[in-house]
Amino acid sequence: MRILVVGQGIAGTVLAWTLRRRGTDVRIADADFPHRSSSIAAGIINPVTGKRYVKTWRYDDFFPVARSVYQTMEAELGVRIWHDQVILRLLENPQERNDWAARIADPEYAGLLGERPDAGAWAGHLAPGYAVGEIRGAARVDFGALLAAFQEFARSARFFLPQNLRPEEAVSLSGDYDCIVFCEGYRGVENPFFPNLPWQLSKGEAMLIRLKSAPYPAEMLKKTLLMTPVGGDLYWVGASYNWTFDDNGPTDSEQNFLEERLRHFLRTPYEVVQRMGAVRPTVRDRRPFMGAGTIQPDVFIFNGLGTKGALLAPYWAAHLTDHLLSGSPLDREVAVR
Ligand SMILES: Cc1cc2nc3c(=O)[nH]c(=O)nc-3n(C[C@H](O)[C@H](O)[C@H](O)COP(=O)(O)OP(=O)(O)OC[C@H]3O[C@@H](n4cnc5c(N)ncnc54)[C@H](O)[C@@H]3O)c2cc1C
Repeated sequence: MRILVVGQGIAGTVLAWTLRRRGTDVRIADADFPHRSSSIAAGIINPVTGKRYVKTWRYDDFFPVARSVYQTMEAELGVRIWHDQVILRLLENPQERNDWAARIADPEYAGLLGERPDAGAWAGHLAPGYAVGEIRGAARVDFGALLAAFQEFARSARFFLPQNLRPEEAVSLSGDYDCIVFCEGYRGVENPFFPNLPWQLSKGEAMLIRLKSAPYPAEMLKKTLLMTPVGGDLYWVGASYNWTFDDNGPTDSEQNFLEERLRHFLRTPYEVVQRMGAVRPTVRDRRPFMGAGTIQPDVFIFNGLGTKGALLAPYWAAHLTDHLLSGSPLDREVAVR
């Protein structure tokens, strides 16, 4: 089977890799548009999120698949992609501490949550007065390393097309392929072959900072923002959420907002090394979507990974691959029709 994948963000990369492993002859195109969501994302998989500390949708199903896929890609591509992580959750007031204690007591969260006597290596960097919870079973997927290594491999194996394939243009090539799969991230909102999808795009901004004094903690830290070590004294800090925006890149107002939040809990000096902004392919019901649309049966979509591309891409790429190669039905929760 011959398949054209349009877009080499995390969705297109994992799908193309999965299809190739199943013996498909794949081409993958990417126009290298600026402010790609996959390029600025920290790639964090966090099993318990939100103010109420709720377990991520089907985490127990998705996490083992994600770990296995990224670790296999890591071995094949020869780059470090997967980092097992613990997240320290700062708890500020009695309400937060009570909610945390209640979650720890819930058997569904057994093994995922705990308490710490203090913030360990982070303690000297922080404002005083926080209690500290611990989230286990988290990870960071190095999207930057993965996407670059896969593109290099695809170029050397001559299946990468460095070009903007607008939907009409891509579909005009359909005679050369058994099917085309669009993985365009937020640009999918303009794809005429998939009109009326429940998009609710959200712009996000983040920063890369350098801590000016040791120690340089190896654990992630979560308060209103998440801080993730990315090597040496560098930390990714994010993110903001905006549902109305004119500009896809970093802006003064959002960066100031991030720094205000950061200074609320981080007391040691730092330097901002990079400011980043991108649009997430988020959807009203927070479920990805995939499959053929109603306009042309050999034109497919794999998109809507929203805020959780790292966790969702491997499981759903395998699901869509089964559908494309063996005709197995798509899960109704994600089928685009
Ligand atoms: C600030 C921020 C922080 C985030 N943090 C996390 C996180 O910690 N963990 C997590 O899991 N997720 C995170 N996300 C979300 C994550 O980035 C997305 O879930 C994921 O990257 C979406 O990947 P994608 O491949 O669908 O889209 P994209 O990354 O947008 O990729 C789409 C690709 O398609 C290409 N393309 C589009 N149209 C065409 C065309 N016509 N021809 C050729 N190429 C085309 C583009 O160039 C691009 O490379 C974050 C997002 C933001 C903005």
